[in-house]
Amino acid sequence: MPHQVTLIPGDGIGPEVTDAAVRAVAATGVAIDWQRTELTSDIIVASHNELPPHVIESIERTHLGLKGPVTTPIAGGYQSVNVALRKRLELFANIRPVRNLPGLHTRYSDVKIDLVIFRENTEDLYSGLEHEVVTDVVTSLKVITRLASFRIARNAFAYARTMGRKKVTAVHKANIMKLGDGLFLKCCREVAQEYPMIEYQERIVDNAAMQLVMRPEQFDVMLMPNLYGDIISDLAAGLVGGLGIVPGANIGDRCAVFEAVHGSAPDIAGKGLANPTAIMMSAAMMLDYLKEMEAATRLRGAIEEVYKEKRRLTPDVGGAASTTEFTDAVVEKLTAR
Ligand code: NAD
Repeated sequence: MPHQVTLIPGDGIGPEVTDAAVRAVAATGVAIDWQRTELTSDIIVASHNELPPHVIESIERTHLGLKGPVTTPIAGGYQSVNVALRKRLELFANIRPVRNLPGLHTRYSDVKIDLVIFRENTEDLYSGLEHEVVTDVVTSLKVITRLASFRIARNAFAYARTMGRKKVTAVHKANIMKLGDGLFLKCCREVAQEYPMIEYQERIVDNAAMQLVMRPEQFDVMLMPNLYGDIISDLAAGLVGGLGIVPGANIGDRCAVFEAVHGSAPDIAGKGLANPTAIMMSAAMMLDYLKEMEAATRLRGAIEEVYKEKRRLTPDVGGAASTTEFTDAVVEKLTAR
């Protein structure tokens, strides 16, 4: 029986990179019945709904999605579909493994970076609750709850134990947001006590950012509320070669949606320049989730081989290959085995 997966190509570079991921997954030999579901900024504008029902229905049926990015207008327009989807499906954990790829030269090539970001995915300043109190005075509500903070902390520590990770670092700004980030931290501390075998430390977010740039190798699992997770993810991606290579998973109790960290990259959309590594690596995480570990390992191995060879890499990582040429190379590796 093929696995049923909702495929949301998205917009911008989304269709290019998701097509590449579908080809790579097919080359692993795992049978997937892709339920293709269109969701673009044009569809959202036309339907006046940032979360059209056909998308939710599909994921609620398959319980699983592979998603390309969807454009969100800046300072106005509709709410982020990505945020809405995560909230609606209660995809509370955003998990982003960040590590060097073999053969990929970066400013940090000589440093071993292998960390995993656990970002709370449903609240914080992403509550979307903004209010113009009087003209030119706006408040944005940062929502932190015990339920959501505990959930993400439990998830991060359970992951650390299962994956043999040694340390969890909670990232916060509880020196300033004493109540909100204070509650987040309190929950992290309580959960940490249940895992005495895992080292627990805390870093204020500004210091965490500096430490990441100075000594990224010190971090293992990083646990944080939503907004810090968003910013730190891009920073961490920059350390290992950029947004083109870092994958992600949005996990809930009922459903999971896998997507790259990057957005729709309108500056390069439609030009064949997009790097599909991040979404392919997200697809590998999806295969793990489906208990197709052997295929997931082969997919990651094929991508790494292409990086080691350096001949067919996309421009963002110093190569001259197109999205299709890179994908051909990964598929060749998978089918040559
Ligand atoms: P972005 O991630 O789209 O792009 C940032 C930079 O990284 C750009 O220079 C882009 O060319 C480059 N880049 C990103 N992915 C790449 C890839 N796979 N290969 C090569 N280069 C890549 O971030 P942005 O420009 O801030 O956002 C653009 C749009 O994407 C916005 O509307 C934003 O809301 C949306 N967005 C969506 C998601 C999502 O759907 N999950 C996530 C982030 C941003």
